[in-house]
Amino acid sequence: MYTAAAGWCLPRLNNSIAAGASAECDNYTAIHVRFGFRTPQSEAQLIVKYEPVIGLEIHAQLRTRTKIFCGCSTAFGAPPNSQVCPTCLGLPGALPVLNRQAVDFAIKAALALGCAVQPESIFARKNYFYPDLPKGYQISQYEKPLALGGAVEVTAAGKTTQIGLTRIHMEEDAGKSLHEGFFDSDRNTYVDYNRSGVPLIEIVSEPDMRSAAEAAEFFTHLREVLVSIGVNDGNMEEGSLRCDANVSVRPAGQAKFGTKAEVKNVNSFRYLQKAIEYEITRQIEVLEEGGRVMQETRLWDSSTGRTHSMRSKEEAHDYRYFPEPDLPPLVVDTARIEAVRATMPELPEARRRRFVAAYALPEYDAGVLTQSSELADYYEQVARDSGNPKAASNWVMGELLRTINDRGMNIADVPLTPAALAGLVALVDKGTISSSIAKDVFGKMFDSGRSADDIVAADGLAQNSDEAALLAIVHDVMGKNADAVTQYRAGKNQTFGFLVGQVMKGSGGKANPKLANELLKRELNR
Ligand code: ADP
Ligand code: ZN
Ligand code: MG
Repeated sequence: MYTAAAGWCLPRLNNSIAAGASAECDNYTAIHVRFGFRTPQSEAQLIVKYEPVIGLEIHAQLRTRTKIFCGCSTAFGAPPNSQVCPTCLGLPGALPVLNRQAVDFAIKAALALGCAVQPESIFARKNYFYPDLPKGYQISQYEKPLALGGAVEVTAAGKTTQIGLTRIHMEEDAGKSLHEGFFDSDRNTYVDYNRSGVPLIEIVSEPDMRSAAEAAEFFTHLREVLVSIGVNDGNMEEGSLRCDANVSVRPAGQAKFGTKAEVKNVNSFRYLQKAIEYEITRQIEVLEEGGRVMQETRLWDSSTGRTHSMRSKEEAHDYRYFPEPDLPPLVVDTARIEAVRATMPELPEARRRRFVAAYALPEYDAGVLTQSSELADYYEQVARDSGNPKAASNWVMGELLRTINDRGMNIADVPLTPAALAGLVALVDKGTISSSIAKDVFGKMFDSGRSADDIVAADGLAQNSDEAALLAIVHDVMGKNADAVTQYRAGKNQTFGFLVGQVMKGSGGKANPKLANELLKRELNR
């Protein structure tokens, strides 16, 4: 029954159960059209009258090789149902065994986010029926999660705020239902259990965010931290990082929160802010029309740019949580926490501050260079090897990032080594080549793996600082441009720039510009 390739075929479920296929009961669409969706003025005015409140729930896949309760691989993209066993298929009698690495990753995430790792946490069964959940329950944590508290500092629109974290708990992922793409998709749903039992952490924030931009910043920051400490790959498209947004609005000045809607299915970073903005506007418009916001779960639809109702509070699941009898309490002692802490790399925020302090970089440079730890590592080596941190930053942020972006490459795949780039920076610093020649050299170095010294020597690009040779060019230029010389000597200083240009040209662009200037000025003033 569980043969690979074909997947496990099920009759399509009643629409009210099948995710994403629920009957549209969105009465607000018409109102949106009438209001005119999000014109800047109306948004500004309404946002003054209402305050949005947002809390996020983030699911992050832990980067373990194997699943949380069995030895099956977690690799993405394998043929359907090829990475399954009795445990992750929920076959009777199969028992879960907790993956140590998953726990260590979860602890690491908790520490990086300032959460208090609990000495004892309890796994619980979260019961619900859905075909991608073969056991009929998900093993999660409920009353006693792995970690409590913590906070993330977020700056949006010039305002810095502490966004509190409620908790982090561990759980297993469900399988994947495939409702589309098969010849019989009108009748059947396929299920792929490769994802069943993949380890996740769920990070729950407090309802501390007050705008979509702030929520997007919070999520960006969280992603950056999780990726930089190596516990998550940050890939929203493959579903290894997912985010549900709880959104409500309240009249400005009111202490009590409004009724929230939970927006699911925001599976791309680009859409998070859009989905929240849409939902805020929708709720404000409901209230403006004299209506009531319903507590419900809504789905974001990126093709229409809207959210629509999936299930109301009345239809909400009662999960009937109870402690998982097949797993003992998870006990984490101080020694284990400290051992995990010892593996913690420098966090992006700290690195940014260090770049400013240690390399005297502008905040802006430090921000760009610490976007990923790979880029930051690359930069640091160029800075150290070249001995010129600011020039190194200009090269990495300029030519290097531009080339990478143009070609859609990853920093990890760049053939030009940091040491080689440092060699180029040093040649410019020594005055061996001008910065404009250096850009050509960069282009020649990028793919070839040749050193800057090598290219400069082979192509005869070294700057000409030979005084006698340059003087000859200066005299030649002055002879050929007697008018300009006369004008200069009569006080028309602008012609100097023209004459320098001629000298540079006469040298094939290789004249040391400083020396060329000096010599020309000296000869003109004779
Ligand atoms: P539920 O009982 O629906 O699970 P919780 O209180 O556990 O709700 O909160 C779930 C998420 O919703 C958290 O991220 C929390 O910050 C957020 N949240 C709770 N109340 C609101 C609200 N009124 N507006 C926006 N977000 C909220
Ligand atoms: Zn398995
Ligand atoms: Mg809850």
